[in-house]
Amino acid sequence: MFLTITTTGTPERPATDLGFLLHKHPDHAQAFSTSYGKAHVLYPEADDLRCTAALLLEVDAVALVRRGKGKGRGGAPDAALAQYVNDRPYAASSLLAVALSAVFSSAMRGVCTARPELPAQARPLRIEVPALPARGGPGLVRRLFEPLGWTVGVDPVALDTEFPEWGDSRYVRLVLESERLTVAEALRHLYVLLPVLDDAKHYWVASDEVDKLLRVGEGWLAEHPEQKLITSRYLSRRWSLTRQAMERLELVRLAETDDSEVEAIDNAVEAEAETEEKPTPLAVQRREAILEALRDRGAARVLDLGCGQGQLVQALLKDVRFTEIVGVDVSMRALTIASRRLKLDRMGERQASRVRILQGSLAYTDTRLKGYDAAVLSEVIEHLDLPRLPALEYAVFGSARPRTVLVTTPNVEYNVRWESLPAGHVRHGDHRFEWTRAEFRAWADTVAERHGYTVEFIPVGLDDPEVGPPTQMAAFTLKATNEKEAKAA
Ligand code: SAH
Repeated sequence: MFLTITTTGTPERPATDLGFLLHKHPDHAQAFSTSYGKAHVLYPEADDLRCTAALLLEVDAVALVRRGKGKGRGGAPDAALAQYVNDRPYAASSLLAVALSAVFSSAMRGVCTARPELPAQARPLRIEVPALPARGGPGLVRRLFEPLGWTVGVDPVALDTEFPEWGDSRYVRLVLESERLTVAEALRHLYVLLPVLDDAKHYWVASDEVDKLLRVGEGWLAEHPEQKLITSRYLSRRWSLTRQAMERLELVRLAETDDSEVEAIDNAVEAEAETEEKPTPLAVQRREAILEALRDRGAARVLDLGCGQGQLVQALLKDVRFTEIVGVDVSMRALTIASRRLKLDRMGERQASRVRILQGSLAYTDTRLKGYDAAVLSEVIEHLDLPRLPALEYAVFGSARPRTVLVTTPNVEYNVRWESLPAGHVRHGDHRFEWTRAEFRAWADTVAERHGYTVEFIPVGLDDPEVGPPTQMAAFTLKATNEKEAKAA
């Protein structure tokens, strides 16, 4: 992987000043070891009129895998080979950014002891990155670099030049040109934006990354229109860090603010960062969201349809406001595990009177399910073949007809965010379909309309600005005009 930086000059302001600025002499090729392989700096051309420095990183795939060990990703079993066979050696990614900062650290800070006047001077610059992974495509590349004063040339790289019909790869050839920027600014832009475009950081993001980002982003990030996307991707979507960075950038903009106020905000941000825990598992977040929605709607008698192994039933039992809880599932095996979990056979009379487990299929109407306040379908609909879905819809909304129905299902758009999920795969082998937010809405709106419910949508898990939350929930409420009729039935 490599990139080149070219400048032009005149005999009075020679292009070879680039050597001073980069602290690397144009006459020698130099090599540096970095944690991921060897970085070479060489000058394919160097005279007064034109000078090009090339940074080439030879990635050591083995070192990369070894270093990757502690980073805490749940790798899929077939990820083993992918660790060795991947685009890292060729594509300009976060690794190149790290090499850039290691090899050109003084240049990036704008320090040049030999010629102290040079770093602050803008000069004509042309930067070329032949293979840049660009998640978000050429449009995003422009949105990131143009506001910084670059003229951007971005050509998608074809997947295979012999088969143009295969379309473009996710790589682009990037050419940046500007007359207005300094070498230090250019390096800082690249240091942040290369990994942002790659969107697959190779190392675990620690909280000092926020400091690093703000330091390197000084003077340009606070005003950047894509600041939120840059910050969240750079910090690998660690939300508390992103929020922390956004708040501190806000502070930069409020430079005039009174000191004590700044301190107060800083302290608050710090306190929050300290209480940050391991992310709560999605299943737990989903259960919490369901419990909250049920409480909000004042439900006391609740059906858990497709209750599986009974985790939600167990959580419902812990809250006395749920006076009657019925778990229903088609799978005897799941129900056996559920009753063991709930210790149904050893339960006191009081508890036992609140809970029941029924075997039944949601594809058929079932009079036992009528007359409840609420029904929950948590991660159930995607287990049915699509042609069977209308039958479930009728059994729940047409026949059982509780006042509240909560339906959760995966948001397929979010799948790109699961690191161990190969592209195009669903999250669970038994999922017959996974929907986008628009598909889920369309289905829910139709169901509500057909059966006299209103519906609202509640994101579960962190709501990603680009792809939405990992789980989507629809909360249906029977319209008041239908409630009497439902009770009478
Ligand atoms: N609600 C649980 C389990 C989800 S897994 C949770 O959120 O963790 C989906 C469950 O739906 C499985 O237990 C499966 O047995 C059940 N299921 C699938 N089709 C069903 C049907 N037609 N009728 C009843 N249950 C069904």
